[in-house]
Amino acid sequence: MGKNCSVFFSKHLFWVVLCAGIATAQDFPLDRFTALRQRFPADENSWTKTQYNDYNQRFASLLVDLVWEYRRPSLPKLQVESRISAPRNPPEWLGQTIRYPVSYAHDISQLGLVLGRDVYNRAWRRLPEPHPLTRNPFSAGRLTEAIDPSINSVSLFVDANMTLILCTPQQGGCAAAQALSVIGMQLFLIAHESGHYILKHGINRDANQELAADAYAFDTLMAIAKSWHTAADPKSNRFYDLVFAASAEAPLWYAYQSGASASPAATKAIKGRIDQIEKLADSLDLDVEQVMPDTYSGWNIQPAKISWDRTPRLLIVGGARVDVSEIQGRTLRLPPSITYLLATDDAGVACEKHYGDEAEVRLTFKPWTNANAAQLNQLEKAKSWCDLIAATADTQLHPRSLQLAQYLNEALHFVHAGVLIDSSLAPTDMRAIAERYRKTDSGLGSWGIP
Ligand SMILES: [Zn+2]
Repeated sequence: MGKNCSVFFSKHLFWVVLCAGIATAQDFPLDRFTALRQRFPADENSWTKTQYNDYNQRFASLLVDLVWEYRRPSLPKLQVESRISAPRNPPEWLGQTIRYPVSYAHDISQLGLVLGRDVYNRAWRRLPEPHPLTRNPFSAGRLTEAIDPSINSVSLFVDANMTLILCTPQQGGCAAAQALSVIGMQLFLIAHESGHYILKHGINRDANQELAADAYAFDTLMAIAKSWHTAADPKSNRFYDLVFAASAEAPLWYAYQSGASASPAATKAIKGRIDQIEKLADSLDLDVEQVMPDTYSGWNIQPAKISWDRTPRLLIVGGARVDVSEIQGRTLRLPPSITYLLATDDAGVACEKHYGDEAEVRLTFKPWTNANAAQLNQLEKAKSWCDLIAATADTQLHPRSLQLAQYLNEALHFVHAGVLIDSSLAPTDMRAIAERYRKTDSGLGSWGIP
């Protein structure tokens, strides 16, 4: 199937899957997802909120259809209600409807891209990076190690690295794995909620009912994967199984990582759910663990409260953009190594260093400054990166002029924020260096790509 599949993205949101020629015993309706996307304008940047909401509602409804087609429950089909402004919460079953927030759907979609790439890489080993990518957003990657997914989501990571994460049309099987993971992860969530309804659980569910709904969802995914099996190609059969088994476990990991600071009981419950999926996958001889994140055991996470004397307009933590409104009064999980925090507003910039053991980081703003060439060279020599930023950047951390770009780019690189560098804003002869800083800070080195 691989050669005939591509995933297309416009700038940030949503995707189109175009696949052809999947021969299956029971036709999996990928074309329905493609047809749905094609009913909406090609350029998502032109979509209205109503269109986003409408798309999400229809997408999830297609997932409900799949549950009913493959499991054939005798109950009337559930409706889906999409929300655009709700907090980033997982879908929720409310009697006759499932509520599915757009923001959560977006995160899960993005995570599906990352997962699909990893599963493809593990199964076929045809990509340049040696390590699974899913481990990076969750645990080891410098770009995102500071991010608490519960309040910032994985979308920022993926959006910033879309060109790296998205498989090219030439990597057809990889693009297909991404498309299937994007569908599979959301299908797991929708099938789980449908499971509560079909298994006649109450509105208040206990831990065993959560496990039962997960098992229902897992079985649904595996029934679909099995429908793609052909006698001629056992390796592809196992690939489909692995993609969907991993798609069942990944959303639970996301919930687990998001809730790491929640109660011990909640952490234990979600861990139990992960263990169950692993056992179910094991019983089918599928090693899902290989594409799941490392646990945080042995990796010291310091929850730190972020406070400030003025509300930042732009906040960068460990090189990743953080939504200020979401962290007000909350904590971020910071790694034991040094994390730089940068904040800007119209009047100035704050630049702080967290060493991994303080419980609070206070962002103290200093005014923007101006410096002449001699002063800039002095700041550079003294490695006064924060002062250099104050003298060269605007509120978006872009250089104020072409001449200042090289100083700013170097400073951003040394405070681990090279991902913000826009090499097109550097003088022509400095662009290669700017691009190298940006790539280095995007974690390319760890993938073995020069
Ligand atoms: Zn549930």
